[in-house]
Amino acid sequence: MILSVRDLQVSFPVGRLMSRSAILGVAGVSFDIAAGETFALVGESGSGKTTLARAVNLLQPISAGEITFDGKRIDGLRGADTKPLRREMAMMFQDPVGSLSPRMQVRDIVTEPFRVHGVEADLRAEADRLLSLVGLSGDFANRFPHQLSGGQARRVGVARAIALNPKLIIADEPTAGLDVSVQGEVLNLLNELRERLGLAMLIITHNLHVVHHVADRMAVMYLGRFVETGETEAIFQAPAHPYTAALLSANPEPDPDKAKDRISLPAEVPSLLARPTGCEFHTRCPWAQARCRTEAPAAQGTDRRIACHFPLSPGARPPAFKETAP
Ligand code: SF4
Repeated sequence: MILSVRDLQVSFPVGRLMSRSAILGVAGVSFDIAAGETFALVGESGSGKTTLARAVNLLQPISAGEITFDGKRIDGLRGADTKPLRREMAMMFQDPVGSLSPRMQVRDIVTEPFRVHGVEADLRAEADRLLSLVGLSGDFANRFPHQLSGGQARRVGVARAIALNPKLIIADEPTAGLDVSVQGEVLNLLNELRERLGLAMLIITHNLHVVHHVADRMAVMYLGRFVETGETEAIFQAPAHPYTAALLSANPEPDPDKAKDRISLPAEVPSLLARPTGCEFHTRCPWAQARCRTEAPAAQGTDRRIACHFPLSPGARPPAFKETAP
């Protein structure tokens, strides 16, 4: 495994001095990513997926758990000791244009990792090589970020991320802010690079099209926990956790008949300050029963893990299912 995460927790302090306490943003998650594999974290905003990705990249302190990268424990690394890691684990941030320094030319942006890590190289040649890898001509080397479209800026961000041949790329909403046609191009590029360079990827997104397009395996997060993990295709074919089923049913669907099968979730996402008892999804779950309100379900299974007392059969409909307009 290139990355192994075990029982990871991230907590945030809340309140003032005397009444200071902590809330759990990530509440004990475990997963592995193999070399060359793409793993997606999916969930609504506030589900903890970005916090988890930042913790894996050591940008966010953890309160418990273990992170092993390429065979070495990294969760204890601090300050300058994290620098070698950043060479091998590259992060792509959300905003394609905003994440590029506005005063730097593309040539300097894509070769910045060489300077940061003191790697000697012919930077002109490296810039041309990297731009060609992401499908941009050498002419782009002299441009500034404001002279790029969103898709071109994202390609430049990808070129910078792969500059020093990392083993893992963490991409936060890799298609955010891009037109649908450009989203497909960026996803195809990520797939191509993964195959060509043997990269592993951790993708964080709320966009299920992205997950379906690029991820071998996925985890669905709710209030900082994994409620379902497994092979992407198997989950898309037959979601077993009610929350996964609701997310997938809300995914814009070109087939108008399927669009009618949307499962609407009644209540708002609960606050992390007041986690529901029992199964934390019970306040919104159309399948909730008495047991769900008092007893937290443990995740069951090996390759496919589901944290639900009553996992769904394929094609299940909520007991009081109401069809909603797409
Ligand atoms: Fe719904 Fe109960 Fe399963 Fe929770 S345990 S997801 S409330 S059926």
